[in-house]
Amino acid sequence: MANNLRRIWETDPEAKPKERKFSNDYVGRFRSGRLVGKQPEALNEWRVTTGDPTVADKVAVLFGGSPEEWDTDKEDNIEVLTASKSVEIVIDGSAAVDASMKKFGFGGLEHHCDGVVYLSDDDPKLVGEACGCPALLQDRKDRAKSGKGPKPSIDISFKLADAPELGKFRFNSGSWELVKTLHTIIEDIDTAGGADEDGKGGVPVRALLSIERVEYTTKAGRDVAYNKPAVKVTGAYEAAQPLADAA
Ligand SMILES: [Zn+2]
Repeated sequence: MANNLRRIWETDPEAKPKERKFSNDYVGRFRSGRLVGKQPEALNEWRVTTGDPTVADKVAVLFGGSPEEWDTDKEDNIEVLTASKSVEIVIDGSAAVDASMKKFGFGGLEHHCDGVVYLSDDDPKLVGEACGCPALLQDRKDRAKSGKGPKPSIDISFKLADAPELGKFRFNSGSWELVKTLHTIIEDIDTAGGADEDGKGGVPVRALLSIERVEYTTKAGRDVAYNKPAVKVTGAYEAAQPLADAA
């Protein structure tokens, strides 16, 4: 078979669909949860999804678990429920961390901001204008929870320190806990990599990507427990330090 329809985009390049970013840029995704039926379940160890059986096999060898098919209409239809809470990764620079606030609706991305101004919108005139999100963190959380306001969307792209040849993985998180440590993570990446004030010119860094358990009892005597993702920068990638020193 041949694709004889390529030329229809030559006559109307505006209508040409965008390249599939996922296929081109990422070989897999790290996930800290899954759906059981319709119920989201937080995981204590990393779950990795990929469309590439070779990648799935390598992930299983490195981090435990076994490749299984899972029910998705996306292309990353193989999952590995690993036995690892913490994996060593390589981050190219602080630009590999992309964070913003997003609210999706039936029509796609409905509100995209940095918490103060619009970062993008169907109406380009609104970019840079005040977005109307509340000032206080608790109000932001409440609005996101009720579906009225955007929630954090943090994307981190990285390679595996033990198998950089596999290519880039990505982790997307909506965790407010991760938002709280984001400025430190970015600062640590720039410092460890020797980047300038704009985050440029540095070398890649090593980091630990972890799922951490948080447990405490409130003043009212209620037990609280949840998982949060964490990134801990351990040094420049060139300085090949053993994992034991970094932990
Ligand atoms: Zn906003």
